[in-house]
Amino acid sequence: MGEFVELEAQDGVRMPWNVLPGSKQESSNCVVPVSAIYTPIKPFPNMPVLPYSPLRCRTCRSVLNPFCTVDFSAKIWVCPFCFQRNQFPPHYASISDDNLPAELFSQYTTIEFEDPQMISSSAASPMIFMFVVDTCMIEEEMTFLKSALSQAIELLHENSLVGLITFGTLVHVHELGFGEITKTYVFKGSKDVSKEQLLEQMGFFLKKPKPSTGVIAGAKDGLSADSISRFLLPASQCEFTLNSVLEELQKDPWPVPPGQRASRCTSTALSVAACLLGACVPGSGARILAFIGGPSTEGLGAIVSKNLSEPIRSHKDLDKDSAPHYHKAVKFYEGLSKQLVHQGHVLDLFACALDQVGVAELKVAVEKTGGLVVLAESFGHSVFKNSLRCIFQSGGHDLGLSSK
Ligand SMILES: [Zn+2]
Repeated sequence: MGEFVELEAQDGVRMPWNVLPGSKQESSNCVVPVSAIYTPIKPFPNMPVLPYSPLRCRTCRSVLNPFCTVDFSAKIWVCPFCFQRNQFPPHYASISDDNLPAELFSQYTTIEFEDPQMISSSAASPMIFMFVVDTCMIEEEMTFLKSALSQAIELLHENSLVGLITFGTLVHVHELGFGEITKTYVFKGSKDVSKEQLLEQMGFFLKKPKPSTGVIAGAKDGLSADSISRFLLPASQCEFTLNSVLEELQKDPWPVPPGQRASRCTSTALSVAACLLGACVPGSGARILAFIGGPSTEGLGAIVSKNLSEPIRSHKDLDKDSAPHYHKAVKFYEGLSKQLVHQGHVLDLFACALDQVGVAELKVAVEKTGGLVVLAESFGHSVFKNSLRCIFQSGGHDLGLSSK
């Protein structure tokens, strides 16, 4: 048994039986079906990394491995899955019993191939982060959040592209590439914005005619690099602007009448972020990082009305299906999740408040896009600060996901 535990640690594979049936008869006699649980992207200490691409089977595309039968004199290997005989390519000509390539070493049942071509193409496409920051919170929380964000920005890889959207009653899209002066585009919080409206209002096609048909999708559809770099800039170029915008960031200035909740248009801000990324960088690994400090009360994803006399829905209300805003909000976030999946973008949620922020409604968009949720009671709490630091520790390339 110990041997299999060791193998599990080495390969990340667990099976009910560690022996495969050798014949059809044995297979039909099996009471427990043959199955395996595999942990993808499991971190292995001292993982051998080979600086070339793997050899693949001609028929089933499986990879040359220690379980293949190799005929050294004929320079042929037999695929253990489909029994296809495959010729070794010329650069494997010197292969012999005592001159094995690393992928045939019996102890290397898990190895990593690093194709130099793939690496250069992934280096060409940097990570993209769109910060979406709630401003409807008390001064103390604002200070905590601002300091955590500026620390995170310091940790960003210099090539990572960064954008900033802040929201409260209104949505502010910050044009970070506008030199020394800060410039923002403002959207009404109560009204959902489509991608077409956003392209129009933000002057993406000022200099040239907008394509009349087809999906408007980034540089391929004639969107110039200049217009994209107004909103998404390499961290090394916008660190100063970003920090000064964050420094000057104030609590949402719109007055909150007594007996009312702050007007917080979380859903509209997320929708604007998704549309902006969809217009600028569709199909590239971008993440929306949403920092939210309370319930959404404005827009299609509102979870409660502004009137404080209406309590926020509880678990009981959700169970009894008597939360009045729930279905409308979920419908909105389902739509948003479809848009994000289509664009290949991820939504991460940092919900830090004693109050509810509406994770029940929002979660569909996080789950469908493979995002992260961090819940804490305050932006000053160590859970939030440490989680954010962990995400950016290695320049945003270690999100617990494969960067390759
Ligand atoms: Zn095969």
